[in-house]
Amino acid sequence: MAEVLVLVEHADGKLKKATAELLTAARQLGEPSAVVVGPAGTTDAIADALKEAGAEKIYAAEGDDVAGFLVAPKAELLAQLAGEKSAAAVLISSSQDGKEVAGRLALKTGNGLLTDAVDINDDGTVTQSIFAGSMTVKSKSRTAMPIITVRPNSIAAAPQAGAGAREDVQLAVSDAAKRSQVVKRVEESTGSRPELTEANIVVSGGRGVASAENFKVIEAFADSMGGAVGASRAAVDSGFYPHQFQVGQTGKTVSPQLYVAAGISGAIQHRAGMQTSKTIVAINKDAEAPIFELADFGVVGDLFNVVPQATEAVNKR
Ligand code: FAD
Repeated sequence: MAEVLVLVEHADGKLKKATAELLTAARQLGEPSAVVVGPAGTTDAIADALKEAGAEKIYAAEGDDVAGFLVAPKAELLAQLAGEKSAAAVLISSSQDGKEVAGRLALKTGNGLLTDAVDINDDGTVTQSIFAGSMTVKSKSRTAMPIITVRPNSIAAAPQAGAGAREDVQLAVSDAAKRSQVVKRVEESTGSRPELTEANIVVSGGRGVASAENFKVIEAFADSMGGAVGASRAAVDSGFYPHQFQVGQTGKTVSPQLYVAAGISGAIQHRAGMQTSKTIVAINKDAEAPIFELADFGVVGDLFNVVPQATEAVNKR
Protein backbone atom coordinates (compact mmCIF):
# COMPACT_ATOMS: atom_id res chain seq x y z
CA MET A 1 0.00 0.00 0.00
CA ALA A 2 1.35 3.44 -0.88
CA GLU A 3 2.50 5.71 1.92
CA VAL A 4 0.64 8.86 2.91
CA LEU A 5 2.94 11.41 4.51
CA VAL A 6 1.64 13.35 7.51
CA LEU A 7 3.55 16.42 8.68
CA VAL A 8 3.62 16.15 12.48
CA GLU A 9 2.72 19.08 14.72
CA HIS A 10 4.16 19.05 18.23
CA ALA A 11 4.92 21.42 21.07
CA ASP A 12 6.76 21.00 24.38
CA GLY A 13 7.55 17.35 23.66
CA LYS A 14 3.89 16.50 23.08
CA LEU A 15 2.01 15.48 19.99
CA LYS A 16 -0.75 17.86 18.93
CA LYS A 17 -4.22 16.42 18.65
CA ALA A 18 -4.48 17.62 15.04
CA THR A 19 -1.74 15.14 14.05
CA ALA A 20 -3.69 12.17 15.45
CA GLU A 21 -6.62 13.34 13.33
CA LEU A 22 -4.39 13.53 10.23
CA LEU A 23 -3.08 10.01 10.84
CA THR A 24 -6.67 8.72 10.99
CA ALA A 25 -7.48 10.56 7.75
CA ALA A 26 -4.29 9.23 6.12
CA ARG A 27 -5.43 5.64 6.63
CA GLN A 28 -8.32 6.35 4.23
CA LEU A 29 -5.80 6.91 1.45
CA GLY A 30 -2.94 4.51 2.21
CA GLU A 31 -0.36 3.70 4.86
CA PRO A 32 0.16 6.56 7.35
CA SER A 33 3.76 7.76 7.71
CA ALA A 34 4.60 10.52 10.18
CA VAL A 35 7.21 13.14 9.29
CA VAL A 36 8.76 14.76 12.36
CA VAL A 37 10.78 17.96 12.08
CA GLY A 38 12.46 19.43 15.13
CA PRO A 39 15.59 19.73 17.24
CA ALA A 40 17.45 16.60 18.40
CA GLY A 41 15.35 14.46 20.75
CA THR A 42 11.98 15.53 19.36
CA THR A 43 11.11 12.18 17.82
CA ASP A 44 11.94 10.16 20.96
CA ALA A 45 9.53 12.28 22.97
CA ILE A 46 6.57 11.68 20.65
CA ALA A 47 7.34 8.31 19.04
CA ASP A 48 5.01 6.30 21.30
CA ALA A 49 2.15 8.75 20.80
CA LEU A 50 2.67 8.62 17.02
CA LYS A 51 2.66 4.84 17.05
CA GLU A 52 -0.54 4.75 19.09
CA ALA A 53 -2.15 7.30 16.79
CA GLY A 54 -1.49 5.04 13.80
CA ALA A 55 1.92 5.86 12.26
CA GLU A 56 3.34 2.83 10.44
CA LYS A 57 6.60 4.68 9.77
CA ILE A 58 8.16 7.66 11.48
CA TYR A 59 10.61 9.76 9.49
CA ALA A 60 12.75 11.78 11.87
CA ALA A 61 14.40 14.91 10.48
CA GLU A 62 16.14 16.42 13.47
CA GLY A 63 18.65 19.23 13.78
CA ASP A 64 18.94 22.98 14.01
CA ASP A 65 18.83 23.40 10.25
CA VAL A 66 15.28 22.14 10.04
CA ALA A 67 14.06 23.47 13.37
CA GLY A 68 15.62 26.92 13.31
CA PHE A 69 14.33 28.15 9.98
CA LEU A 70 10.83 28.99 8.86
CA VAL A 71 8.57 26.76 6.81
CA ALA A 72 10.76 26.36 3.69
CA PRO A 73 12.89 23.45 5.03
CA LYS A 74 9.72 21.51 5.84
CA ALA A 75 8.53 21.87 2.26
CA GLU A 76 11.97 20.75 1.00
CA LEU A 77 11.93 17.75 3.33
CA LEU A 78 8.43 16.68 2.29
CA ALA A 79 9.29 17.09 -1.40
CA GLN A 80 12.40 14.93 -0.93
CA LEU A 81 10.53 12.22 1.00
CA ALA A 82 7.49 12.27 -1.29
CA GLY A 83 9.78 11.61 -4.27
CA GLU A 84 11.79 8.86 -2.54
CA LYS A 85 8.74 7.04 -1.19
CA SER A 86 6.39 7.68 -4.15
CA ALA A 87 3.82 8.94 -1.63
CA ALA A 88 0.13 8.68 -2.50
CA ALA A 89 -0.71 11.95 -0.73
CA VAL A 90 0.60 14.44 1.82
CA LEU A 91 -1.60 15.60 4.70
CA ILE A 92 -0.85 18.76 6.65
CA SER A 93 -2.79 20.61 9.33
CA SER A 94 -4.65 23.71 8.11
CA SER A 95 -2.68 25.99 10.40
CA GLN A 96 -1.01 29.21 9.27
CA ASP A 97 2.34 27.44 8.86
CA GLY A 98 0.75 24.28 7.50
CA LYS A 99 -0.91 26.11 4.64
CA GLU A 100 2.35 27.79 3.71
CA VAL A 101 4.25 24.50 3.75
CA ALA A 102 1.51 22.94 1.60
CA GLY A 103 1.58 25.77 -0.95
CA ARG A 104 5.35 25.58 -1.31
CA LEU A 105 5.22 21.78 -1.58
CA ALA A 106 2.56 21.90 -4.29
CA LEU A 107 4.68 24.29 -6.33
CA LYS A 108 7.86 22.27 -5.82
CA THR A 109 6.31 18.96 -6.80
CA GLY A 110 3.75 20.21 -9.35
CA ASN A 111 0.89 18.55 -7.50
CA GLY A 112 -2.67 19.66 -6.76
CA LEU A 113 -3.35 21.44 -3.49
CA LEU A 114 -6.63 21.18 -1.56
CA THR A 115 -6.83 23.42 1.49
CA ASP A 116 -9.17 23.53 4.48
CA ALA A 117 -10.57 20.03 4.05
CA VAL A 118 -13.17 19.07 6.63
CA ASP A 119 -13.56 15.49 5.40
CA ILE A 120 -11.64 13.03 3.23
CA ASN A 121 -13.12 10.11 1.33
CA ASP A 122 -11.22 6.91 0.53
CA ASP A 123 -11.40 7.73 -3.21
CA GLY A 124 -9.41 10.91 -2.51
CA THR A 125 -12.39 13.26 -2.74
CA VAL A 126 -12.24 15.91 -0.04
CA THR A 127 -14.92 18.19 1.35
CA GLN A 128 -13.55 21.72 1.61
CA SER A 129 -14.81 24.70 3.51
CA ILE A 130 -14.34 27.70 1.19
CA PHE A 131 -15.09 31.44 0.86
CA ALA A 132 -14.51 32.04 4.56
CA GLY A 133 -16.66 29.04 5.40
CA SER A 134 -19.77 30.26 3.57
CA MET A 135 -19.76 27.21 1.24
CA THR A 136 -18.55 23.64 1.23
CA VAL A 137 -17.45 21.91 -1.99
CA LYS A 138 -16.25 18.45 -2.92
CA SER A 139 -12.94 18.44 -4.78
CA LYS A 140 -10.46 15.93 -6.08
CA SER A 141 -6.90 16.52 -7.19
CA ARG A 142 -6.08 15.45 -10.75
CA THR A 143 -2.41 14.88 -9.96
CA ALA A 144 -0.71 11.76 -8.65
CA MET A 145 0.03 13.04 -5.14
CA PRO A 146 -2.62 15.38 -3.73
CA ILE A 147 -1.47 17.74 -1.00
CA ILE A 148 -4.30 18.26 1.46
CA THR A 149 -4.54 20.58 4.44
CA VAL A 150 -7.12 19.47 7.01
CA ARG A 151 -8.91 21.74 9.46
CA PRO A 152 -8.19 20.68 13.08
CA ASN A 153 -11.13 19.00 14.86
CA SER A 154 -12.94 18.21 11.59
CA ILE A 155 -12.07 14.53 11.47
CA ALA A 156 -12.37 12.53 14.67
CA ALA A 157 -9.18 10.67 15.58
CA ALA A 158 -9.83 6.93 15.60
CA PRO A 159 -6.46 5.58 16.75
CA GLN A 160 -5.43 2.26 15.27
CA ALA A 161 -1.87 1.51 16.42
CA GLY A 162 0.79 1.35 13.72
CA ALA A 163 4.25 -0.21 13.64
CA GLY A 164 5.95 3.14 14.27
CA ALA A 165 9.20 2.07 12.56
CA ARG A 166 11.69 4.92 12.85
CA GLU A 167 13.91 6.05 9.99
CA ASP A 168 16.30 8.98 10.38
CA VAL A 169 16.29 11.37 7.47
CA GLN A 170 19.26 13.48 6.48
CA LEU A 171 18.21 16.74 5.00
CA ALA A 172 20.46 19.20 3.24
CA VAL A 173 18.61 22.47 3.66
CA SER A 174 19.19 24.69 0.63
CA ASP A 175 20.54 28.24 1.00
CA ALA A 176 17.24 29.51 -0.40
CA ALA A 177 15.33 27.85 2.44
CA LYS A 178 17.62 29.51 4.98
CA ARG A 179 16.82 33.07 3.91
CA SER A 180 14.59 33.59 6.94
CA GLN A 181 15.38 32.34 10.38
CA VAL A 182 13.45 32.06 13.62
CA VAL A 183 15.09 34.41 16.13
CA LYS A 184 12.69 33.96 19.03
CA ARG A 185 9.62 31.91 19.86
CA VAL A 186 7.02 33.25 22.25
CA GLU A 187 4.31 30.78 23.22
CA GLU A 188 0.80 32.18 23.50
CA SER A 189 -0.26 31.09 26.95
CA THR A 190 -3.75 29.70 27.36
CA GLY A 191 -3.14 28.93 31.02
CA SER A 192 -4.85 25.74 32.10
CA ARG A 193 -7.36 25.93 29.24
CA PRO A 194 -6.97 23.95 26.03
CA GLU A 195 -5.64 25.65 22.92
CA LEU A 196 -8.54 27.32 21.07
CA THR A 197 -8.23 25.51 17.73
CA GLU A 198 -7.79 22.11 19.39
CA ALA A 199 -10.48 22.40 22.07
CA ASN A 200 -13.51 20.09 22.04
CA ILE A 201 -15.59 22.82 23.68
CA VAL A 202 -15.37 26.55 23.00
CA VAL A 203 -17.38 29.24 24.80
CA SER A 204 -17.17 32.61 23.06
CA GLY A 205 -18.33 36.00 24.16
CA GLY A 206 -19.24 38.98 22.01
CA ARG A 207 -20.01 42.67 22.37
CA GLY A 208 -22.95 41.66 24.53
CA VAL A 209 -20.52 40.71 27.31
CA ALA A 210 -19.97 44.46 27.60
CA SER A 211 -16.62 44.59 29.45
CA ALA A 212 -13.34 42.81 30.08
CA GLU A 213 -14.38 42.23 33.70
CA ASN A 214 -17.60 40.52 32.58
CA PHE A 215 -15.64 37.99 30.52
CA LYS A 216 -15.15 36.14 33.83
CA VAL A 217 -18.72 34.87 33.29
CA ILE A 218 -17.66 33.34 29.95
CA GLU A 219 -14.43 31.97 31.44
CA ALA A 220 -16.27 30.33 34.34
CA PHE A 221 -18.64 28.56 31.95
CA ALA A 222 -15.75 27.40 29.75
CA ASP A 223 -13.86 26.16 32.82
CA SER A 224 -16.86 24.24 34.12
CA MET A 225 -16.70 22.13 30.94
CA GLY A 226 -12.92 22.09 30.44
CA GLY A 227 -13.30 24.26 27.35
CA ALA A 228 -11.46 27.11 25.68
CA VAL A 229 -12.58 30.74 25.60
CA GLY A 230 -13.13 32.60 22.34
CA ALA A 231 -14.29 36.10 21.45
CA SER A 232 -15.89 37.95 18.55
CA ARG A 233 -13.98 40.71 16.84
CA ALA A 234 -16.25 43.33 18.37
CA ALA A 235 -15.31 42.02 21.83
CA VAL A 236 -11.62 42.02 20.90
CA ASP A 237 -11.73 45.49 19.29
CA SER A 238 -13.49 46.82 22.39
CA GLY A 239 -10.58 45.54 24.50
CA PHE A 240 -12.65 42.94 26.36
CA TYR A 241 -10.45 39.99 25.41
CA PRO A 242 -7.02 39.51 23.72
CA HIS A 243 -6.81 39.16 19.95
CA GLN A 244 -5.23 35.69 20.11
CA PHE A 245 -8.68 34.39 21.11
CA GLN A 246 -10.62 35.99 18.24
CA VAL A 247 -12.76 33.55 16.28
CA GLY A 248 -13.66 34.33 12.68
CA GLN A 249 -12.45 35.32 9.26
CA THR A 250 -9.63 37.45 10.63
CA GLY A 251 -9.16 35.35 13.73
CA LYS A 252 -8.93 31.63 14.37
CA THR A 253 -11.02 28.88 12.82
CA VAL A 254 -12.48 26.43 15.29
CA SER A 255 -14.46 23.26 14.76
CA PRO A 256 -15.23 21.91 18.26
CA GLN A 257 -17.85 19.38 19.32
CA LEU A 258 -19.66 22.21 21.14
CA TYR A 259 -19.51 25.93 20.39
CA VAL A 260 -21.38 28.34 22.66
CA ALA A 261 -21.87 31.89 21.37
CA ALA A 262 -22.96 34.30 24.11
CA GLY A 263 -23.83 37.89 23.22
CA ILE A 264 -22.70 37.37 19.63
CA SER A 265 -24.98 38.46 16.76
CA GLY A 266 -23.66 35.94 14.21
CA ALA A 267 -22.11 38.15 11.49
CA ILE A 268 -20.83 36.28 8.42
CA GLN A 269 -17.22 37.03 9.39
CA HIS A 270 -17.75 35.40 12.80
CA ARG A 271 -19.52 32.40 11.29
CA ALA A 272 -16.55 31.88 8.97
CA GLY A 273 -14.53 30.77 11.97
CA MET A 274 -17.04 28.54 13.77
CA GLN A 275 -19.80 27.27 11.51
CA THR A 276 -18.28 23.81 11.07
CA SER A 277 -18.65 23.26 14.85
CA LYS A 278 -20.62 20.06 15.50
CA THR A 279 -23.19 21.55 17.92
CA ILE A 280 -23.79 25.28 18.19
CA VAL A 281 -25.58 26.88 21.13
CA ALA A 282 -26.52 30.56 20.99
CA ILE A 283 -27.43 32.77 23.93
CA ASN A 284 -28.74 36.16 22.85
CA LYS A 285 -31.38 38.52 24.15
CA ASP A 286 -32.48 39.40 20.62
CA ALA A 287 -34.68 36.60 19.20
CA GLU A 288 -33.99 37.96 15.68
CA ALA A 289 -30.18 37.70 15.98
CA PRO A 290 -28.75 35.89 12.89
CA ILE A 291 -26.80 33.47 15.11
CA PHE A 292 -30.09 31.63 15.76
CA GLU A 293 -30.28 30.67 12.04
CA LEU A 294 -27.13 28.64 12.56
CA ALA A 295 -27.65 27.40 16.12
CA ASP A 296 -28.70 23.85 16.98
CA PHE A 297 -29.96 25.11 20.34
CA GLY A 298 -30.82 28.67 21.25
CA VAL A 299 -31.67 30.51 24.43
CA VAL A 300 -33.33 33.91 24.06
CA GLY A 301 -32.30 35.71 27.21
CA ASP A 302 -29.80 37.85 29.03
CA LEU A 303 -26.44 36.09 29.06
CA PHE A 304 -25.77 37.37 32.60
CA ASN A 305 -28.81 35.46 33.71
CA VAL A 306 -28.42 32.36 31.50
CA VAL A 307 -24.66 31.69 31.56
CA PRO A 308 -24.14 31.65 35.37
CA GLN A 309 -27.11 29.29 35.72
CA ALA A 310 -25.66 26.98 33.08
CA THR A 311 -22.26 27.11 34.83
CA GLU A 312 -23.83 26.22 38.15
CA ALA A 313 -25.77 23.34 36.61
CA VAL A 314 -22.61 21.90 35.00
CA ASN A 315 -20.57 22.36 38.20
CA LYS A 316 -23.19 20.43 40.18
CA ARG A 317 -22.69 17.34 38.01
P1 FAD B 1 -22.69 42.69 17.72
O1 FAD B 1 -22.94 42.45 16.27
O2 FAD B 1 -22.75 44.07 18.23
O3 FAD B 1 -23.67 41.75 18.52
C1 FAD B 1 -23.78 41.75 19.91
C2 FAD B 1 -24.94 40.81 20.24
O4 FAD B 1 -25.03 40.68 21.62
C3 FAD B 1 -26.29 41.31 19.74
O5 FAD B 1 -26.89 40.30 18.96
C4 FAD B 1 -27.09 41.56 21.01
O6 FAD B 1 -28.45 41.24 20.89
C5 FAD B 1 -26.41 40.64 21.98
N1 FAD B 1 -26.47 41.05 23.38
C6 FAD B 1 -26.19 42.26 23.91
N2 FAD B 1 -26.29 42.24 25.25
C7 FAD B 1 -26.65 40.96 25.58
C8 FAD B 1 -26.92 40.29 26.80
N3 FAD B 1 -26.81 40.94 27.99
N4 FAD B 1 -27.29 39.00 26.77
C9 FAD B 1 -27.42 38.33 25.60
N5 FAD B 1 -27.17 38.91 24.38
C10 FAD B 1 -26.79 40.21 24.39
N6 FAD B 1 -16.02 39.39 13.52
C11 FAD B 1 -15.62 38.32 14.22
O7 FAD B 1 -16.26 37.92 15.21
N7 FAD B 1 -14.49 37.64 13.85
C12 FAD B 1 -13.74 38.00 12.78
O8 FAD B 1 -12.71 37.37 12.52
C13 FAD B 1 -14.15 39.13 12.02
N8 FAD B 1 -13.46 39.51 10.91
C14 FAD B 1 -13.94 40.55 10.18
C15 FAD B 1 -13.28 40.89 8.97
C16 FAD B 1 -13.76 41.94 8.20
C17 FAD B 1 -13.05 42.26 6.93
C18 FAD B 1 -14.89 42.66 8.63
C19 FAD B 1 -15.43 43.79 7.80
C20 FAD B 1 -15.53 42.34 9.80
C21 FAD B 1 -15.06 41.29 10.59
N9 FAD B 1 -15.71 40.95 11.78
C22 FAD B 1 -15.30 39.82 12.44
C23 FAD B 1 -16.74 41.79 12.40
C24 FAD B 1 -18.16 41.32 12.15
O9 FAD B 1 -18.65 41.89 10.95
C25 FAD B 1 -19.07 41.79 13.31
O10 FAD B 1 -18.96 43.20 13.44
C26 FAD B 1 -18.72 41.16 14.66
O11 FAD B 1 -18.64 39.76 14.52
C27 FAD B 1 -19.80 41.51 15.66
O12 FAD B 1 -19.45 41.01 16.92
P2 FAD B 1 -20.57 40.72 17.98
O13 FAD B 1 -21.53 39.74 17.43
O14 FAD B 1 -19.89 40.42 19.26
O15 FAD B 1 -21.24 42.16 18.18
